Amino acid sequence: MRPFAYFAPGSLSGAVAALRDAVPGTKVLAGGTTLYDLMKLGVETPPAVIDVHRLPELATIDAGERELVFGAGARMADVAEHPAVRDGYPALAESLWRAASQQLRNMATVGGNLLQRTRCSYFRGGSEFACNKREPGSGCAARGGHDRTHALLGTSDACIATYPGDWAIALLAFDAVVDVAGPRGDRTVPLAGLHVEPGDDPAREHTLAADELILRIRVPVTPAGRGSTYLKIRDRESYAFALASAAVALTVEDGVVGDCRIALGGVATRPWRATEAERVLRGAPLTPGNARRAGEIAFAGARPGTHNGFRIELGIRTVADAVRTAGERAAR
Ligand SMILES: Cc1cc2nc3c(=O)[nH]c(=O)nc-3n(C[C@H](O)[C@H](O)[C@H](O)COP(=O)(O)OP(=O)(O)OC[C@H]3O[C@@H](n4cnc5c(N)ncnc54)[C@H](O)[C@@H]3O)c2cc1C
Ligand code: SF4
Repeated sequence: MRPFAYFAPGSLSGAVAALRDAVPGTKVLAGGTTLYDLMKLGVETPPAVIDVHRLPELATIDAGERELVFGAGARMADVAEHPAVRDGYPALAESLWRAASQQLRNMATVGGNLLQRTRCSYFRGGSEFACNKREPGSGCAARGGHDRTHALLGTSDACIATYPGDWAIALLAFDAVVDVAGPRGDRTVPLAGLHVEPGDDPAREHTLAADELILRIRVPVTPAGRGSTYLKIRDRESYAFALASAAVALTVEDGVVGDCRIALGGVATRPWRATEAERVLRGAPLTPGNARRAGEIAFAGARPGTHNGFRIELGIRTVADAVRTAGERAAR
């Protein structure tokens, strides 16, 4: 690992000021569970880090009447186990406790989770591999290479890397927003506008500036919370990233779908909202056939590579199963 400077401001305002005055390339450090990993691999080489992990202002969890509010520094485990999340928003809780391991969830924060980088092995593998994300213009070794876990949706000629996180998928289904602070003031970014597709600039993964700090994540209260699930299919039942996942939240009355939200994970270059599939299910009877059809529509635009085509059918079934589970919960 290259030497780097370490700063641990004692307050939120101190952290914002430290970011404003930081040398270019400085990174925010939260739990460090992925940033330190990438620094050891030489993929990230920040000259300095600003540690916000111990700031109490960022660690709060509030369940209000209108919204759930999670400080960016709240630990994944604490959010997953919060009664309002566990009981009222199973998709949020499941997306967290199906991620990583208990040790990691005890350390990792819900803010850091949003900005984790792809697990593409060529990206993490070092400079021997062509990778437009790590070295713009160098090419993409994954195209025509080992692309079994690479994206099917939102890809470009320059990059097919999968967005790996689970939490952002469930947040997307609930229309969450992210409050950020920076030297130019505070602003709010919809989760749907946080991550970007690679296009011809895969190095750019999100819409935050380098000197902006995520303060909190807000989730509007909705009756669809209770009728929700996060289904994650992976190579082994724990400690693995998704081959396909779906966050589904529904309201159901007399067997007919009312509100309907579907987001896909593990299959796209960013958290992926399946709006057309939602539209087709809204107002339709909740039947296995309609659930399957929603999955087919969600994957209609999928572009398989060499070894990842099997995940289209896997994804369709994941959506269909998640719709069924969410429907059962909504009807209770
Ligand atoms: C072995 C392993 C398995 C994993 N499996 C899964 C999995 O199945 N599903 C899943 O979703 N995740 C998984 N992860 C990823 C893990 O959940 C993330 O490492 C973790 O959530 C990141 O949080 P952190 O607080 O440690 O962030 P850090 O590592 O500290 O930071 C991550 C990134 O976020 C930025 N950042 C952090 N906080 C802020 C902030 N407040 N404002 C602005 N930028 C910020 C950092 O600069 C950095 O770029 C796995 C990780 C490992 C190591
Ligand atoms: S898929 Fe993206 S991250 Fe992976 S090698 Fe290609 S350019 Fe790099």
